Amino acid sequence: MQNRRNVVAGVDMGATHIRFCLQSEDGEVLHCEKQRTAEVIRHGVVCGVAAMIQAQVDHFQARCCGLVMGFPALVGKDKRTIISTPNLPLQTTELHDLAGKLEDALGCPVEFSRDVNLQLSFDVAQNDLVNQQVLAAYLGTGMGFAIWLNGAPWTGAHGVAGELGHIPQGDRSLRCGCGNSGCLETVCSGIALANWYQQQPREYALGDIFTEAADEPFVQALLDHAARAIATSVNLFDPDAVILGGGVMDMPGFPQESLIEKIKQHLRRPLPYQAVRFIAASSSAFNGAQGAATLARSRFTPTPSAAPAPVALG
Ligand SMILES: [Zn+2]
Repeated sequence: MQNRRNVVAGVDMGATHIRFCLQSEDGEVLHCEKQRTAEVIRHGVVCGVAAMIQAQVDHFQARCCGLVMGFPALVGKDKRTIISTPNLPLQTTELHDLAGKLEDALGCPVEFSRDVNLQLSFDVAQNDLVNQQVLAAYLGTGMGFAIWLNGAPWTGAHGVAGELGHIPQGDRSLRCGCGNSGCLETVCSGIALANWYQQQPREYALGDIFTEAADEPFVQALLDHAARAIATSVNLFDPDAVILGGGVMDMPGFPQESLIEKIKQHLRRPLPYQAVRFIAASSSAFNGAQGAATLARSRFTPTPSAAPAPVALG
């Protein structure tokens, strides 16, 4: 046991798929895999996730130093409590002390995170931005958003910071998935785009909206909404860089340059207008799991190489 190498695990748990990444303590990616969520949690989430990880830890004759696991959910400030997870097929009884049960099964510390914070951690590491202040907007099923401050995702007083998709800048006649009315996501999200597409028969596929229907008023309005919201966040935070990504921005023909121009129209001049950089997110499906493993490495390995010591705000 003593000669076993140290590794860390990152898991990105989505409604459909679970993605898992194992990294060595110096950041080498040893293993990535994707499985159907329903299949993994068939006999319970603790049993399924622990078995998936343990199989690879044993394969590499390693010792797991820690697990970071991401959920499409609100995660508490303690990084152990899942507050709300409308999109996951998990029983309330399974969620109770899930971190503790996983720690018992794996014999290592476990932390939970909101999935966009894992994507952000990956993009920050990938673009060498660890010591900078970074915002990320991931326009996918929802309007994902995340904040990187002081070498880590910034999670607010209660763990739920960064819900840009739920600012009250949407259609007040529409109810959002979160339960409130008029959230930005009612007019600016993959769900809103799909709802608009399905209102009438169209001669192109949903995935071709930006090549076939970019000039439609709804599509232009969606881009305007995204631009105003992102510009607001930039004027509030004055970041070094803004990462732009997500499933909608990955669609063919998505007008990223035009979106950036629309954002810049609303930026305060001369700063942050002149200085802020816009960076495209890489779009591998394993980014979340890799970001989770990277966070696990900075949290749980003896000599963290990526994250600097947190700096107190003055
Ligand atoms: Zn909402």
